[in-house]
Amino acid sequence: MIKKKCDKCGQEERQRNLRRLNGYWLCTKCYVEVRKNHRNKTIEVSGIRGELRRLDAKRKEESAGGKENLREYQRKRYRDSKDYKVKEYRTKDSILPVIKGIKIKRESIKSNSFLTIQEKQTLLRLLMKRGLTFEETIDRIKCLVSEQSRIRNLMKTQNKSEEQIKQKQFQLLEELYNF
Ligand SMILES: [Zn+2]
Repeated sequence: MIKKKCDKCGQEERQRNLRRLNGYWLCTKCYVEVRKNHRNKTIEVSGIRGELRRLDAKRKEESAGGKENLREYQRKRYRDSKDYKVKEYRTKDSILPVIKGIKIKRESIKSNSFLTIQEKQTLLRLLMKRGLTFEETIDRIKCLVSEQSRIRNLMKTQNKSEEQIKQKQFQLLEELYNF
């Protein structure tokens, strides 16, 4: 096993765990830090932010099947969403029908993950490309999801609209992209 020192902090690491940057060998931690500092210094942050917005809009349009269908599609999605159904169920003050042998999963109604599995995988690839290890990446995604759900619950108690909540959740996602 070849070991090598990180040029910045001196930490000894397996060579395959070190990353090359501008002629230096850096451990994952230093690599991430250097990249982060660099990012904050450059206008790249705003560039990426714009690109993210564009991608998000494009993604929404694509799933709607064109820009002209976007409004209707979003309305429909909202009506089909768990939030709407839960809200409707609450306002109607009705009882969920009990079907013999089927346990109603209340947990699945409560947990509202903003990211689809595909989005998580994309994020995973992206963050690992930036130099995070698999474990670090999983940790960050977990934090993001729990932070998103915390914000969601908080904003619900403040009677914020679904759109406002989604926007805030997207901001959190952006922050992770821009780490
Ligand atoms: Zn280091």
